[in-house]
Amino acid sequence: MTAEQIHQGRCLCGSVTYQVQGAPIVVAHCHCEDCQRLTGAGHSTGAMYAEENFRLDGVVGKYDLKSENGNIVTRVFCPACGSPIHGQNTGMPGFVTVSLGTLDNSSDFKPEVVVFARNRKHWDVMDEALMTFEAQPHWKPEE
Ligand SMILES: [Zn+2]
Ligand SMILES: [Zn+2]
Repeated sequence: MTAEQIHQGRCLCGSVTYQVQGAPIVVAHCHCEDCQRLTGAGHSTGAMYAEENFRLDGVVGKYDLKSENGNIVTRVFCPACGSPIHGQNTGMPGFVTVSLGTLDNSSDFKPEVVVFARNRKHWDVMDEALMTFEAQPHWKPEE
C-alpha cells in the first residue's frame, strides 16, 4: 500500500461515504463488550488512521460512551441504515478507527492485533498467530 493510495468506503445505504489515504497505523480486532453490541457480532475490526488521512461525506449520527479507563469513545454511524463508520477515543486524540467491513475493497488490509480477548465468545474463533491482549494494551501510535 502506498502513502498516496486511496481506499473508499460507505455505509449500507450509501448516504455516508468516506475515504482513507495510505496504510493504516494498525488493524485490530476488538472483542470488548461495546464493540460486540455495536456490531452485533463477536468483534469489531478497525483500521486506525490519523484524522488528516480520513475524509467523511454525509450526515452521521454520534453516540458517546465512557470506556473502562475513563476515556470518551465516540461511535459514528449512519443514522439511516445504522452502519458503524468509525470511532474516536479521547485517549487517542487525532486518530480515527474505521470499521474495516465498510471499505469497498479491504483486500490489502491485514489484522495484526486482537484486543479485549477476555471478552471473546467461544463461537468467535480467531487466528491464534495474531498478537493477542486480554484488554487494551498501553500502546500509542508513534509520531
Ligand atoms: Zn447508511
Ligand atoms: Zn472494542
